[in-house]
Amino acid sequence: MIAHTPTLFASVALVATIMAFCLILVGQLNKRDGLFTTGCGLLAHALAYVCYTLYGQAPLWLTYGAANLLLSVALALYTAGIFRIRELRVPWPLIASLPALMALLMASLINTLEPRMLAASGVLTGQCLLLVYWAHRHARSTGRSYMLLIIGGGISLIGLTLRVIAILAGGATEMQYDVSNLKQTISVSIGTVTVMMYSLGLVLLSNERSESRLRQMARHDALTTILNRRAILEQLAEELERARRCGSTLAIAMIDIDHFKQINDQHGHLAGDEVLCHCVRNLQQRLRQSDCIGRYGGEEFLLLLPATSAEGAMVAVDALREALAQTPAHFAGATIPLSFSAGLWCGIPGPDDSTDQLIAHADKALYAAKAGGRNCLSLSAPTERLQAQA
Ligand code: GH3
Ligand code: MG
Ligand code: MG
Repeated sequence: MIAHTPTLFASVALVATIMAFCLILVGQLNKRDGLFTTGCGLLAHALAYVCYTLYGQAPLWLTYGAANLLLSVALALYTAGIFRIRELRVPWPLIASLPALMALLMASLINTLEPRMLAASGVLTGQCLLLVYWAHRHARSTGRSYMLLIIGGGISLIGLTLRVIAILAGGATEMQYDVSNLKQTISVSIGTVTVMMYSLGLVLLSNERSESRLRQMARHDALTTILNRRAILEQLAEELERARRCGSTLAIAMIDIDHFKQINDQHGHLAGDEVLCHCVRNLQQRLRQSDCIGRYGGEEFLLLLPATSAEGAMVAVDALREALAQTPAHFAGATIPLSFSAGLWCGIPGPDDSTDQLIAHADKALYAAKAGGRNCLSLSAPTERLQAQA
């Protein structure tokens, strides 16, 4: 079906204006989520298509020069939207250089036919390639936004390539904006699809960003930034299941800072907070990649050491204890010595072992370490089944 080209341009302009209005309206409320930038891109896109609609009835500098410049600005704003949504610094000099190049080329080539058409298509192709590249770098490859942005970018590139081929094959007059033929209908329809895909892709990217921020907050401790109690317990359940399935050993350590209340009482709660962060930094520096630590409670941390024997776990946790005991924390000019005690459980989990039971064993061992004078470790007494395994 061959559509009337100016009418097609007008309908794309209408859709883009409505979407721009919605995004600018809601984007005003939170400029950090990048929707305002996307809305401005849509507005530029809509204005470009309004100018195309007037092709043949208004001066060429408006209906071709300004129109392509506006389309180039729209692509630049969509690209900037990716950075805004990811809360990254927008590389404005690079992003803005392409619309500037478009302005320069349109000003110098406006009275030609093929050269101005090839120049406009070339700049837009470069912008689409950049958009696809940055979407690939900054959107999660499993995300829905990634799918829309990459497919939208791919379709734009196919449309622009077909346009360039048609111009090079001598069909420049057939590709003018006031001509209605099958090639133009396909070309403008591709433009419509990409408006939809870019804007929906960017809205989804913003949504995925908020979701991932919320997920991060729900799983991490606000003070120390390590896994919180819920997340470390989920991790323990996973490690327990894996060790049970593979028949491998799992070691867990319940770590508790000694006389922490005294630190709070003597130096204040802010110093206590700094001591907690100092302790976490110190532990994290020395953990293996496969180990995992989370804040179980106030000054208690749960450490998971997968595929680690009882001897290996005792040596590893004792090295952590020794290192912390020799590295005091500092706060407001005061040097604050600290140490921890730890209770360990180690074994190959059986079908009846649960996370609660393992924690209860490690907790009991921790009490023994505290009773044994603190700044030391204690290994949970092996159960009958573990003794039988041994
Ligand atoms: P022990 O050697 O037996 O473990 O003694 P303790 O003083 O370390 O243990 P206790 O359970 O008596 O005190 C823990 C203190 O930790 C009490 C609580 O006010 C403090 N606390 C818990 N969470 C935080 C926190 O986020 N920041 C600060 N500054 N203190 C905290
Ligand atoms: Mg405690
Ligand atoms: Mg304590």
